[in-house]
Amino acid sequence: MKAQELRQLFFEFFSSKGHAIVPSAPMVVKNDPTLMFTNAGMNQFKDIFLGNHQPVHKRVANSQKCLRVSGKHNDLEEVGHDTYHHTMFEMLGNWSFGDYFKKEAIEWGLELLVKRLGIPEDRLYATIFEGSKEDNVPRDDEAFGFWEKCFKNPEGRIIEGSKKDNFWEMGETGPCGPCSEIHVDIRDDEEREKIPGKDLVNKGHPHVIEIWNLVFIQYNRKSDGVLEQLPSQHVDTGMGFERLCMVIQGKKSNYETDIFQSVIKEISMITGKQYGLNEKWDIAMRVIADHLRAVSFSIADGQLPSNNKAGYVIRRILRRAVRYGYNNLGIEEPFIYHLVPVLVNTMGTQYPELQKGKEQITKIIFEEETAFLKTLGKGLKMIEKMISDLKKEKKNVLSGKIAFEMYDTFGFPVDLTQLILKENDMHLDLSGFEVEMKNQKNRSREDASTEAADWIVVMETEGTEFTGYEKTEDEVRITKYRIVKIKGKESCQLVMNKTPFYAESGGQVGDTGIITSGNEKIEITDTVKENNLIIHIAKKLPSDPSKVFRASVDIEKRQMTANNHTATHLIHFALRSVLGNHVEQKGSLVTPDRLRFDFSHFSKLSREELSRIEELVNIMVREDHNGKIVTGISLEKAKSMGAMALFGEKYGDTVRVVEFGKSVELCGGTHVESTGRIGIIKIVSEGAIAAGVRRIEAVTASKAEEYINEKIKTLDEVASLLKSSGNITDSVEKLLSENSSLKKSIEKFQAQSVTIMLKELVDKAIMINDIRYISGHIETESADLLKNIAYQVRSSSENTVLVIGSESGGKANILVMISDNLVKERNLNAVAVIKEIASDINGGGGGQPFLATAGGKNPAGIDNALKKAGEYIRNI
Ligand code: ATP
Ligand code: MG
Repeated sequence: MKAQELRQLFFEFFSSKGHAIVPSAPMVVKNDPTLMFTNAGMNQFKDIFLGNHQPVHKRVANSQKCLRVSGKHNDLEEVGHDTYHHTMFEMLGNWSFGDYFKKEAIEWGLELLVKRLGIPEDRLYATIFEGSKEDNVPRDDEAFGFWEKCFKNPEGRIIEGSKKDNFWEMGETGPCGPCSEIHVDIRDDEEREKIPGKDLVNKGHPHVIEIWNLVFIQYNRKSDGVLEQLPSQHVDTGMGFERLCMVIQGKKSNYETDIFQSVIKEISMITGKQYGLNEKWDIAMRVIADHLRAVSFSIADGQLPSNNKAGYVIRRILRRAVRYGYNNLGIEEPFIYHLVPVLVNTMGTQYPELQKGKEQITKIIFEEETAFLKTLGKGLKMIEKMISDLKKEKKNVLSGKIAFEMYDTFGFPVDLTQLILKENDMHLDLSGFEVEMKNQKNRSREDASTEAADWIVVMETEGTEFTGYEKTEDEVRITKYRIVKIKGKESCQLVMNKTPFYAESGGQVGDTGIITSGNEKIEITDTVKENNLIIHIAKKLPSDPSKVFRASVDIEKRQMTANNHTATHLIHFALRSVLGNHVEQKGSLVTPDRLRFDFSHFSKLSREELSRIEELVNIMVREDHNGKIVTGISLEKAKSMGAMALFGEKYGDTVRVVEFGKSVELCGGTHVESTGRIGIIKIVSEGAIAAGVRRIEAVTASKAEEYINEKIKTLDEVASLLKSSGNITDSVEKLLSENSSLKKSIEKFQAQSVTIMLKELVDKAIMINDIRYISGHIETESADLLKNIAYQVRSSSENTVLVIGSESGGKANILVMISDNLVKERNLNAVAVIKEIASDINGGGGGQPFLATAGGKNPAGIDNALKKAGEYIRNI
C-alpha cells in the first residue's frame, strides 16, 4: 500500500467512528512562548485540555507535521544513525475531548492495525502504566482489562511500564495521565524464535519499535506536584506515520518506504553513490533526506533559517545535512537544493504549502548551503593553523575552549574538529569542550527561567470576553491571577471575565494601560496570549482582587497602533498591485511607533516601485475608506471573499475579515474606523532579510510628520550652510566639483614639495657598508605619495636603502625601500627592517622584500626608528 493511500485509510477509519478530520496545524508555532515547533499532534489542542477553549467537535483525527529537535523532545542526534527517528515526521492521531475514553481508544487501535491493516496480532505488544506510589496513582488496571479483552490471544502481549514510558505530562504542571504504547515486532521469524519480542520492547531494538501511543488524560498536576482528578477525561493518541508505512510496506527501515525512496534515489544520482552499500554513505543519505523535509516544511511555514531562536534551530539542521554530505559523501558544492523538486513531488499533494513555496525554499536552501560551505572552508584553514601552532609548541591537545568557540561562533562542527585532529595524531580536550557547552546551556536556561505559581481562582467563568474592538474602557472582574517570576523579577498575571485590552498576536503588540478601583491604580505593562488565555501583566497584585475594576487602555498608543496596523494592510495590498501576486506576507510587527512588513519578493525594490507603492497607499488614505469587519465566519468562507490567508490559523478557529477598499485580509487586530485617520504613510526603509524575503519599514500619522519634518530640517540646514537660495542639488554639485579640482591642485603641490624634500634627503645620503643610505622625515598626508617616491627611487638607482618617516594626523608612518640588487645579492629584506623598528612608533607593518611600510600611534618615536634602521644596515 502506498503512503498516500495509507494516510487516507487512517482518515476514513476514524471518520467512520464519528471523528471530524481536521488539517495539520503549522509546524512552526507562533504565539506560544513555551514551544517553538509542534512536536506532537496534541499541541494544537492544548487549550482545550487546559479548559481555556471549548472544542467544536468532541472527536477529531488528523495527520500533524511534527518537528522534534529542541526542548522536551529532541531526536536530532539519533536521526540518520537509526532508521526510525526523524526530525520532521507526520503524527497520525485521534482525540476525544471529554467523550470516549480507554475502552474505545484501545478497541479502535487494535481494530485498525489488525483487522484493517492486517498486522498479525502476534507481532504486537501493548504497554500499560505500572502505577506510582510517589504520585499515589494505581496500576492502570482499566487499560489492562481492555487490552486483555481486545487481543484474541492476550497471553504475553501486555507489558507493564514505568513512569518514564507510560505516564504522560504536558509540562511541569497541567493535564497528564497514564498511557499505553503499541509496539510492533518486524523481525524475521527465525530471529523471533530466538528471542521473544516482549523482551525487546522499549530496549532500542530497531525492529521492535513503538508505533502508537494512546494517552489517557485524567489528572491535573498542580505546582506543588500533587495530582487531582480532572472533571472530564480525554484521549490523545499519536502514531508515527513513517513507522506505520514501514510496517505495512514490509520494510525494515523508514527510509526504504516510498516516502523517502525518491529523494534517496536522487541523492544517489547526484553523488554517484548507491544506498545500501556502505554504512557511512547510508547514514549521510538518511540525514540529508530527513533534514531536507524538516527545513523545507519550516520554510513553507514561514520560518526561515536565521541567527536566533527557531530560525537558528532550522539553520543548524540544514548545516548538519551539509556536513554529512561533506564528510561522508565528499560533496563540497551546494546540492541539497537540487532535491526540493523531488520532495515537492512526493509530498506536495497532501501539503500544498510545500508546492507553493517551492521556488523560495530552493533559493533559501541554496544560499544557506553556499554560505555554510564557505564557513567550513574557513574553519578548515583555522584548524590547519591551530594544528601547526600546536606542532610548533610540541603539543597534541586542542583546548576545549577553542573548539567550542569554533563551533559556537563559526558553526564549525566539533566532530569535524576531532576528525581532523585525529588525522594529525592529536586530540581534543573533550571534557573542556563539554564544560563550555554546559555553561552555555546553563546561561540560556537562566535567561529563560520562569517560575509560575498556581492560578488562584477568584471567580468561576467561561473564558474571557474581548470587548476591545468596540471599547477602550470597561468594567471588569478578575477571574484568576498568579504571581510569576521571570529572570528573578516578580510580576502578576491577571485574567478577567472581559477585557478591552488587546493581547499581542498577529504581529500587533499588546495593549498597555491601567486598571483602577477606588484610589487604587495598577499599571498594565503588557497583554499577552497563552494557550488562548488573555493575560494582563500587572506591576503588582491589587489589594482586593475580587473588586470591580475599571480597565482603561492607553488610547493614544492604541490609536497609533491601529494606524500602523491598517497601514500594514494597505502596504500589503499596494505591494501586490505594484510587484505582483507572488508577494506574500512573511511576518509583520505593528507597534505604536512604526510598522514592519516582511514579504516574499526576489529583487530589491527600485526607487520607482517604492514611490508607486507610497503613492498608492496614500491615495487609499485620502479616499478615506471605511473599515468593514466581518467576524465569526469559517476559513473557507473568508477565502471565498478574497481574503488573503495567513499562516497560523488552526482548526476550529473562526476568522475575522478586515476590509478597507480593495484590501481584504484575515486579521484579528485593531484598526482605524476609516483610512483617513492614518493621515499619511511614509516608507522609511526597504531591504533584504533572507533569500527571497524583503522587509519594509514605515511610519504613519504624527510619526510620519516627524520623519518628514526632520528631513526638511536637515535640508534647510544644508541650504543655510551653503548659503544657497536656489536649488540645493545644484549647489552641492558645484561644491563637489570645486572640491575635486582643489584636491587635484593640492596633490600636485604636495608632489612637488615632496620631490624637493626628497632631493634634500638624497643630497645628505651617506654610505654605510657600501650601501647608499637615505633617511629622514618627509611631511605629507598622503601615504600613496610616499610609495610613489619610493618606486621612483627604486627604478632610478641601485645599491640604495631609503628609510622615510612621516607624521600625519597624530599618527606615524614609516617606509623602507631596498634596491632590487641589494635584495638579490646581499639578501636584504625591507620587511625584516620594518619588523625591527616598528615597535618604536608603537605599531606594526609588513610588505615585500623591496618595500615595506608600518603605521603606529607614536610619532615621537620616528627619530629613534630611523636611527635603529641605520644601525641595522651598519650591522649586516
Ligand atoms: P520513541 O521512544 O520511539 O522515541 P516516543 O516515546 O518519543 O517514541 P511519542 O512521544 O509517544 O513517542 O510519540 C508518538 C508516536 O510518534 C510514537 O509512537 C512514534 O511512532 C512516533 N514518533 C515519535 N518520535 C518520532 C520521531 N522522532 N520520528 C518518527 N516518529 C516518531
Ligand atoms: Mg522519543
